[in-house]
Amino acid sequence: MGRLSTCDTGVGDRCARGFPGDQQHEARRAATLNVTFYGVRGSTPSCEKGVQRYGGNTSCVVLERPGVAPIILDMGTGLRFFGRTHDHTTPFAGTALVSHLHWDHVQGLPFFSPVLAEGARLEIVAPATDHEGGGLDADSAIRTFLGPPFFPVSLDALRGDITVRSTPEGPFSVGDARVTSAEVPHCGRTLGYRIDVAGMSVSYTHLRAHETHEHLVCRLLLAKKKQTRNSSY
Ligand SMILES: [Zn+2]
Repeated sequence: MGRLSTCDTGVGDRCARGFPGDQQHEARRAATLNVTFYGVRGSTPSCEKGVQRYGGNTSCVVLERPGVAPIILDMGTGLRFFGRTHDHTTPFAGTALVSHLHWDHVQGLPFFSPVLAEGARLEIVAPATDHEGGGLDADSAIRTFLGPPFFPVSLDALRGDITVRSTPEGPFSVGDARVTSAEVPHCGRTLGYRIDVAGMSVSYTHLRAHETHEHLVCRLLLAKKKQTRNSSY
């Protein structure tokens, strides 16, 4: 797990330019944005020695600011470990922006313990699928794989209030953050997100499709797509 922060509050919560209670400190504290990488691996979680440097969990990055509901970027297996940071004294509330619906980006959802509690609220924003993916809105798409026979527990069986909506076309708001999405190249409809909040910006995007030997299936799909596109001109 890795963490970046725009304002290192350090031991005793002392900010570099002030102390708790100072107006300046409070302003800087409000502008703190922690970016934590709970999972950065693609395709499948791994545990062998060679992956230990960056961890073996699949995609999940979390943006957090003091006193503000977190924004989760993808719900891969790293989401389970973000769940362990929740103290359970208050019900969880947050939003997950999902880049695409491949397993490695969503399989952490049923293992995210905060949403297994009454009163928890999670809004999932994910792309509707393209024609090849059945042309489904995000809610229908997630319900196709989260439930029997693929998984013993369905979305509705999770105790928290979980809503799923398709990513809007234009910019939209998540709390006081402004979110912009754009399509990025991958197999199936995939979005990158830019989050602007409190004068800061974070971009979350895939730079490449899965194009290594281990991901031959995706390479073949990309080649097929390219062929179809070329033959339609
Ligand atoms: Zn993918």
